[in-house]
Amino acid sequence: MQTNTQTTEFTPTLVADIAPKIQSLKNTFSSGSTKALAWRIEQLQQIKKMVLEQQDNIFTAMQKDLGRCDMESWTAELGGVVSEVDHSIKHLKKWMKPRKVSTPIIAQPGKSYILPEPLGTILIIGAWNYPLLLVLSPLVAAVSAGNCALIKPSELSANMSKLVAKMVSLYLDNDAIDVVEGAVKETTELLKHQFDHIIYTGGEVVGKIVMRAAAEFLTPVTLELGGKSPCIVDSSTDLDVTAARIVWSKWMNAGQTCVAPDYVLVEKSFAPQLIDAIKNKIAEFYGADVVTSKDYGRIVSERHCSRIIKYLEDQNVVFGGTHDLANKYIEPTIVLDPSSDSPLMQEEIFGPILPIITMDNISQAIPYVNAREKPLALYLFSKNSSFEQQVLTSTSAGMVCINDGFMFAANPNLPFGGVGSSGTGAYHGKIGFDNFSHLKTVMKRSFWFDVPLRYPPFTSKKFKLLKKLI
Ligand code: NAD
Repeated sequence: MQTNTQTTEFTPTLVADIAPKIQSLKNTFSSGSTKALAWRIEQLQQIKKMVLEQQDNIFTAMQKDLGRCDMESWTAELGGVVSEVDHSIKHLKKWMKPRKVSTPIIAQPGKSYILPEPLGTILIIGAWNYPLLLVLSPLVAAVSAGNCALIKPSELSANMSKLVAKMVSLYLDNDAIDVVEGAVKETTELLKHQFDHIIYTGGEVVGKIVMRAAAEFLTPVTLELGGKSPCIVDSSTDLDVTAARIVWSKWMNAGQTCVAPDYVLVEKSFAPQLIDAIKNKIAEFYGADVVTSKDYGRIVSERHCSRIIKYLEDQNVVFGGTHDLANKYIEPTIVLDPSSDSPLMQEEIFGPILPIITMDNISQAIPYVNAREKPLALYLFSKNSSFEQQVLTSTSAGMVCINDGFMFAANPNLPFGGVGSSGTGAYHGKIGFDNFSHLKTVMKRSFWFDVPLRYPPFTSKKFKLLKKLI
């Protein structure tokens, strides 16, 4: 049986040590050492080496923090970091090159290009649900772009926080990459300092605190937030594959995934078939008695566990519903037609409860989604291509996957990020590189052929000619 009741003594970084750490990173950036391609490649290789060599320690920490099985930790976190590193190493030289653009006639003879340059020191504030990926994936992007970075892992995944600090000290260039461990007090101290970019992953409330603090220094932010991600299931879909993919994406990490389907929208007449198919897949994946499955995770803390259990009050539970607070266990649970104003439908669930909302016609799903905040992800299962187009063009979401769960996260060519209240900015692959770079405008003019047209004294003849050129 999985448990995550083993806790670790959490030792935050001393507040007095935070300012010197930041200053040291800034001094390193000023030295220019992180700009070299060789330094970037070496650090990326070291990140990969660190993850592979420390795999067993990482698995143990994940098990303690989230009751996660090793394969799920590999698929969702370690594998993601390794493929981000490989992708960056493969393309980095090209990303760093000046990007030539055309030059208008008014600026001829001349050349124009965009020169990516590192921003400086990046603050990476991570969340507990994917405690390795959410700090190392931004780190890959920050290092690829030639920056220094300060990582603040989440205190809720205390075992991983401790391990991240240890691994970074053992494997990476500590003059350029450092860790501050801590909770609210330490993060508040961090936010009093000037960084060149802050990437924050977590909830909306703290996202606003981060953005406010960043505004003091006009520091750009990337906010990787959450929200209620809808999953629209049209009756034309392949029922068996749809059920498997919904169960995989909803109950991975016991539902504690920012891009997990938060709720399902389905036609009334098709709902019983879909619910049966989902129940069967849960049994197939986790066994008849899920609590004994080694593949099903636990809730990160008692506070979060109580929060999720509370969502079940006065609801029509049609599957599951059992829980064990002491072991932070909640069974995969399906709730049918909760009211829109219940906390279950007002807040991001971020746990293993799947509400199924039925409607007379699936086209009603579009106004349902549009009446709410823009979600981080939107899922559509359908074989009807005109409905697919309708959903794509009539709704807004950070990311969309048609006929699967969050598989887009596995493609480094796609930006990962939200829109509106689900986040701002994005990373992964080249988009991450660009996010942590300043795309510097450069124009080089020739001294030859200096057209006097734009210089005073201005005449009506010059003005006429100029209007033709601009
Ligand atoms: P959390 O509790 O780990 O908090 C996130 C970070 O904020 C931590 O490092 C924490 O120390 C810091 N923090 C907490 N309170 C603070 C305060 N008052 N001032 C400054 N810093 C503070 O994580 P959480 O907020 O429970 O995360 C869950 C949310 O994150 C969900 O909404 C989920 O959807 C979202 N999320 C988004 C992504 C994404 O990539 N978009 C990924 C994972 C989680």
